[in-house]
Amino acid sequence: MFQEIIDAKKRLQGFAHQTPVLTSRSLNKMLGAEVFFKCENFQRIGAFKFRGAFNCISQLSETEQKRGVIAFSSGNHAQAVALVSKLLGIKATIIMPSNTPQVKLDATRGYGAEIVIYDIQSEDREIVTAKIQNKHGYTLIAPFNNKHVIAGQGTVAHEFLEKIPNLNTLLVPCGGGGLLAGSAVAAKGVNKNIRVIGIEPELADDAKQSFEAGKIVTIPVSNTIADGTRTTALGHMTFPLIQQYVDEICTTTEQAIIDAVKFFLLRMKIVVEPSGALGLAALLSKSVKAQGKVGVIISGGNIDPPVLKQILGE
Ligand SMILES: *Cc1c(COP(=O)(O)O)cnc(C)c1O
Repeated sequence: MFQEIIDAKKRLQGFAHQTPVLTSRSLNKMLGAEVFFKCENFQRIGAFKFRGAFNCISQLSETEQKRGVIAFSSGNHAQAVALVSKLLGIKATIIMPSNTPQVKLDATRGYGAEIVIYDIQSEDREIVTAKIQNKHGYTLIAPFNNKHVIAGQGTVAHEFLEKIPNLNTLLVPCGGGGLLAGSAVAAKGVNKNIRVIGIEPELADDAKQSFEAGKIVTIPVSNTIADGTRTTALGHMTFPLIQQYVDEICTTTEQAIIDAVKFFLLRMKIVVEPSGALGLAALLSKSVKAQGKVGVIISGGNIDPPVLKQILGE
């Protein structure tokens, strides 16, 4: 997998942004450590998912590319598949639930994808997707359970360590585990002594449960504010990599996530969505103790305006 991440990095050159690394003196003083933020909120489409989608779709065969791709997502994966397909001249169909916020529908449509909306009450997403896929021969682009997607996401950590080589700890948000698995492989491949910690909301702690049980645990859908991590289970491809390369999974409370989003806005002047703020939430609430040089991946910045308003009101 490490070599695939190096290959993905070359593939992404000229397409993905090399995102900046930011620091905050007042935060460092507060925590008594040096914290570095890798800002994927400044990535194309506003989240790291552009990397995995590009690495995956650009490697499809000519026949597959001619037929088109399909994905189901109401979030950042939808926009990533839509933009990558547009850049590569491929037809993209995105299946989205009927309760998707208008801003996300507009953004995805804006990248030229065809949107199919299914009724969450009466229709099954998998069946809707399979029906369209079979009819047109589209290739399904999975959001995390795909080795090319995982390798693409791993380029975040590789790029991070290239810029700040001597990090002793790396904090990575975890939903289905694509970003965490890829980043852990990349980080350990560069420095086998680095500690890699996955962070997820306490309300959606399936990865922690799976890590401890030694098998994939599925939980009911959570309503955590960190909507990018509401996945109910790790994938059969992400889990073994997480078992092998990740040192620990920690959880963080809803209040800590809210405090972290506010800190980014008011102190660092950057817009970070709740899922992207998990690493800082863990540090601020001391669920992870900051020591030495700590790297934190900010996974994205696409926050729904009503959620932002709610957070600022708290
Ligand atoms: C998708 C996403 C995550 C979770 O990534 P996984 O690869 O599913 O673990 C975290 N943060 C943001 C902003 C996301 O879009």
